[in-house]
Formats: sequence, C-alpha cells, structure tokens
Amino acid sequence: MKKKIIVQKYGGTSVANTKKIINVAKRIVSCKRKGNHVVAVVSALGDTTDELLRLAGEISKYPSERELDMLLATGEQVSVALLAMALNELGCKAISFTGAQVGIMTDSSYTKAKILDVGTGKIKKHLAENKVVIVAGFQGKDLKNEITTLGRGGSDITAVALAKVLKAEMCEIYTDVKGVYTTDPRIVPEARKLSTISYEEMLEMASLGAQVMQARSMEVASKFNVPMHIRSSISKEKGTLVIKEVKDMEDVLVRGVTVNKKESKVTICDVADKPGEASRLFEYLAKAEVNVDMIIQNISRTNKSTDISFTVENKGLRKTKKVVKEIIKKIGAKGVKYDENIAKVSVVGIGMRSHSGVAAKMFKALASKKINIEMISTSEIKISCVVSSKDADRAVKVIHKAFGLEKKR
Ligand code: ASP
Ligand code: MG
Repeated sequence: MKKKIIVQKYGGTSVANTKKIINVAKRIVSCKRKGNHVVAVVSALGDTTDELLRLAGEISKYPSERELDMLLATGEQVSVALLAMALNELGCKAISFTGAQVGIMTDSSYTKAKILDVGTGKIKKHLAENKVVIVAGFQGKDLKNEITTLGRGGSDITAVALAKVLKAEMCEIYTDVKGVYTTDPRIVPEARKLSTISYEEMLEMASLGAQVMQARSMEVASKFNVPMHIRSSISKEKGTLVIKEVKDMEDVLVRGVTVNKKESKVTICDVADKPGEASRLFEYLAKAEVNVDMIIQNISRTNKSTDISFTVENKGLRKTKKVVKEIIKKIGAKGVKYDENIAKVSVVGIGMRSHSGVAAKMFKALASKKINIEMISTSEIKISCVVSSKDADRAVKVIHKAFGLEKKR
C-alpha cells in the first residue's frame, strides 16, 4: 500500500530552543513509525524574525525590501537544519531544504510574496528514499531566482500549499495552544476548544484577529479543501479539525467571538454631501496603500456635508495621519478626529446564514453591560462592533455568555 503523506507545520514557539526541537523530532519519528511519510515545515526559532527586523531597524529606517527578505529567510534556514540534525540523531533519515531549493515559486513582491507554483519532484524523490523532508516555511524564490518571503506568519501558507500539491492526508498545524477556541481563553476562562470548524469560519476568525492561523493560508486551505488539524505541539490531545461545512454545523448560531485591539478609528468631518466625494477620499487612501477596514458614513442633517469614519490598522496609523492631512485639504473637509482606543469585537458562525436575530442578541448583550457601540459591520457569517477599548474584554465576556458558547454540544 502507498504510504500516506502528512504535512506537519511547527510554529516558532514550538521550536524556540534545542530542547523543543528535539521534542519536535520525536513527534515526527512517532508519526513516521505509524507508517506515514512526513513533510515538516518549520518557522524560525522563537522570536528570531522580530529580532532580525530589529537589527535591520538599527541600521536603516527603510531598508530595501529585497535585502529584508534575504535577512528574514535566514531565520527558517537555521531551524530546518537543526531539526534535520535532531532527526538524524534519533536514527531517522532526514534532509532539510530552503523554500527556493524545493521550488516554492512566488511573485516578486518582497516581504509579502504570493505563491505561484510549488515543485514536488525533489520532495517526492527524498520521501521515496524513506527520509523526512523538512522545508523552511515563509519563503520562496521568484522567477529571477531572488529570495522572497510570504508575509508574517507565512509558514502556515507554505504548509497548506505543500499539503495541497502533495495531496497530503492531513496538514497538521502544531502550535502553543491546544486548538481553536470559542474565544481567547485569557479573556474568558470558560472558553471551549472547538472539535471542528468550517473553512469559512476559520478564515473569518483568522482575519478578525484570532491568532492561531495566518488568514491568507486559510484562503488557500478553503479554496482547495486542504484537510487541516490545528493542535498542540506538546500534548497528544486532539485539537481542532478544519473541515468543509456539513449540514448540522448550521445549527450553531455563533462558533466564536474574536477581538481585535490593533485598529484605530479615523473620522473625517464635514465631507461635502455630493456624488463622488467618498470615491475621491478612498481613492487617495488606496493610492497611499492605506488598508481600510470598516467604513461608516452618516446621513447629513444639513444636506451639505457629512462625517465619514473608517478604521485602519494601528501599524499604518502614522502613514494614515500624514496622507489624511493632505486629503482633507484636497477635498475641502473641515477636519479629522482620531480614536486609538477602540476594539473590534466580532461574532462568527455559518449558522447566521439561516437564522435571524443574531445581531439583536449581540447588541442586547452589549446593552446589558452599558457598552456603547460605535460602528457596526456585517457579512453573511459575521457581525462586528467597534467599542471603546476599555470595554473590549467585558464585551467579549458578555457576548460569549449570551450565545452560550461555554456549554458543551
Ligand atoms: N518566522 C515568520 C514570522 O515570524 C514566519 C512564521 O512564523 O510563520 O512571521
Ligand atoms: Mg513566527
């Protein structure tokens, strides 16, 4: 019988030191002993990537992105080599490769490259020789042979892409939590580990701030139905399976609650109330590559002008402030207000598609704790509310409770 291929991805915390790397090697050996082929994808040790970025920052405020990728890609090269050595030490044949070596081909957008194609020849050849193949996460090369990286947290996407092209039986994501929870257990101790979640819900939760998976990798997983298992690297316990939605998943109104405290609200005051103004405003923002998330425009009371608010990631706030200053002059708005003390609290669940009343229940829960809602946005399977950051944790708690998420089902 042909052996099954399991792709295992280990995040930075799971390989933070040599002791942990040896543990990871043991896990891989035990998976292999069960009769599987293993392809391991590894992140850089602990906070290596942050540390490398810090070094770059000491030398240059705006380092060349090509050189940044040259630098950042080294992090994963360290961990794959050490893991290969650890496996060899346990008597298990293993070989490590950079992304470029196995043919992870990307476009040329340094620091956020997209995967175009993934080679399988080399990996399959070494698997056939009964080796564990270890691939550096988060990196590839472009058509000109230049080294690229795939955006922060990008080892997830390497793992998902490999699982897809190798037709892996399972893509296991090993991390420092036991799986995907109904919400952050640090905020709500009663939060429950989910045994299953649909691709769509996982994608939505990752985009809304749940830290377990990189959002982009979930887009790929969802598109190709890559079977995934998110689990702990130190416990044997089963984690969370990410699967194609099945009928009774819709019986649950809300699968999880997320909170994102890393956004700010920008309000442009007195924008002329006539066709084309919003388009001009957001065109300028887009040109400056400001990533806008939620948007609200109030009706104008005077028929002359209106306020437009939107949220942006805090890390882009400095740039936003600079461009907004110019924009308001160009479009003749009266002024601008910033609020950095906001949080976006969201509920996610495919059950919302077929059930009504979810929004009402969420708003009622917030009202019961006298928490003011500043902005609202909805999609088919999520509802987000912006609240003051001082209310964020209380909001998560009361919403989690209102939907009974702590209860077993
Ligand atoms: N080492 C990279 C980062 O920290 C990639 C990853 O961890 O997935 O973003
Ligand atoms: Mg990392």
